[in-house]
Amino acid sequence: MAAGLRVVLLGPPGAGKGTQAKFLQEHYGACQISTGDILRKAVAEQTPLGKEASGYINQGALVPDDLIVNLVAERLKENDCAPGFILDGFPRTIPQAQSLDEILKKMGMVLNGVLAVQVPQKVIVERLAGRRTCKGCGALYHLAFDPPKAVAVCDRCGGELVQRDDDREETIVARLKVYDTQTAPLVDYYRERNLLRSVDGVGTVDDIRNRIIQALGDVK
Ligand code: AMP
Repeated sequence: MAAGLRVVLLGPPGAGKGTQAKFLQEHYGACQISTGDILRKAVAEQTPLGKEASGYINQGALVPDDLIVNLVAERLKENDCAPGFILDGFPRTIPQAQSLDEILKKMGMVLNGVLAVQVPQKVIVERLAGRRTCKGCGALYHLAFDPPKAVAVCDRCGGELVQRDDDREETIVARLKVYDTQTAPLVDYYRERNLLRSVDGVGTVDDIRNRIIQALGDVK
């Protein structure tokens, strides 16, 4: 049974889950599992999964549960997840959460925390519109809040910085609607299981990072 951090990061698109998950990965030595990153890679490589997923992603809709659940089950078995894991963008529906419980049960594990990162909708739209990702290494930037040193060039690897296709304004609105109807019910699901820890997601990256560490205080 894996010791360490076994957490879900829950929150609307633009809540800062990816940024914080990357930090938690380094801080706790756990693996980061971002279903969005895995799907985008599959789309870029035009794998069968990528071909099936791309239409849903471009519309801001969720990819069907069965595609996602298998992918996470396989990823959790990899060695780098043995010290713990941070799930970023999964689960996103109640059936996904139930499947996760089953997957972990088979592995002899349970979650030890769910961090709900809370950000008002107005702040989210502002954040998503300015978000840029490195095509090379996946590093995240924000044009206003965390800009790269040179325009459109990654500080870390020199790669090109691009805007995600689904960060266009019309898709953002669709994604937020999907979050409210399909993902937000997970807050109650995890609250009922005494796993929920709420974190205020407004502030600097460092502020939010500190709040998360505090919220995770007794975990691990
Ligand atoms: P993200 O990078 O987490 O915002 O995910 C980008 C897109 O990938 C979402 O808008 C969905 O289309 C798809 N996606 C990512 N994770 C999931 C998931 N757990 N369930 C269904 N679709 C997902």
